[in-house]
Amino acid sequence: MTSDLAGLLNSPDAARVGAVLVIDLAALVANWRDMADRAPGAECAAVVKANGYGLGDVAVATALWQSGARSFFVADIEAGVRVKTALPQSRTLVLHGVPAGTEAELSARGLVPVLSSLCEVERWGAYARKLGRKLPALIHIDTGMNRLGLPPAELDRLCNDPAGLLDGIDLQAWMSHLACADDPTNPFTVEQLRRVRAALARLPNAPVSLSNSAGIFHGTDYHFDLVRPGIGLYGPNPAPWAPNPMRPVIRLLARILQIRDVAPPDTVGYDATHRVAAPGRVAALGMGYADGYPWSLAGKGVAMVAGHAAPLIGRVSMDLLTADVTGVPDHLLQVGGWADIIGPHRDVDQVAKEAGTIGYEVLTRLGARYHRIYING
Ligand SMILES: *Cc1c(COP(=O)(O)O)cnc(C)c1O
Repeated sequence: MTSDLAGLLNSPDAARVGAVLVIDLAALVANWRDMADRAPGAECAAVVKANGYGLGDVAVATALWQSGARSFFVADIEAGVRVKTALPQSRTLVLHGVPAGTEAELSARGLVPVLSSLCEVERWGAYARKLGRKLPALIHIDTGMNRLGLPPAELDRLCNDPAGLLDGIDLQAWMSHLACADDPTNPFTVEQLRRVRAALARLPNAPVSLSNSAGIFHGTDYHFDLVRPGIGLYGPNPAPWAPNPMRPVIRLLARILQIRDVAPPDTVGYDATHRVAAPGRVAALGMGYADGYPWSLAGKGVAMVAGHAAPLIGRVSMDLLTADVTGVPDHLLQVGGWADIIGPHRDVDQVAKEAGTIGYEVLTRLGARYHRIYING
């Protein structure tokens, strides 16, 4: 722990909450540069949807903007307005597109929708013609995900009359999205690339965007003009078939609220699920499932107190965790001290594995209650 961080953890703000989320902006920026370097011919955007994967979208986007990122993807207009207001010169792209009735706000705010259907393409084009100026957009073509994007029949219609359908639209890129990029052996990724190329051959020329974080690792064929990393920026391994090349970005610390001696036949926590096996000590920590820490993690994982392992025991409560701190030497254990829940000893991917989920979910569920401390900004 840097002395800097020690000071922040002792601050009056930190004292008001049970747990603190430390976000290393230098590591975030290093991860964005790493992604940009892997796709040297392309612009490297940053996906900051879901409140910057739980880390704070404006804080994340601002740090990346200062390091050279210019394009930011968000999910909805609400987030788009937040990011664009903080960074008026940025290109802020809205993945959910242009729902009916939002044309005026999107265009007035200078947001760029990602259009996923011909209906949306026509809506945006019509509004542009009404304004008498071109409006920027990306167009998302589905190549097999069957989630968002123009389905094949709509793509055919677009290919038959691009000039008419794109009238009024300042087309900034064709976009598609990979379904299986995190599995290098899945042939569907190659098939999607083939479909992208087949579509491009029938469409007017414009920049192209295909790859998320994992896609970037599939090589230059997948980079095109604009890459869209999300998860890798925030530390989890975007290419799980190899050791994690990204730097860890977050550290989650919970306050030690109380320490007690226990001995058999004591039990700990709700439903008395944890039975104490030998005399020892238990600490109550100030976070729980209401902070997005999965209830399914009961009895799993290890916290770290002053460099000593403290297994997490018993049920996860709403606002509390319990840890076996028997192995922590007396002079290092104190009420008001901190226990690392996510940190160098246990990264986001490890927590996800223990909980039977993915790093994306662990990050995006990080609670609103945590006091967020940004370091190395
Ligand atoms: C979420 C998302 C991304 C980023 O994906 P990661 O796997 O987090 O890198 C890119 N493009 C689209 C369309 C997305 O929805």
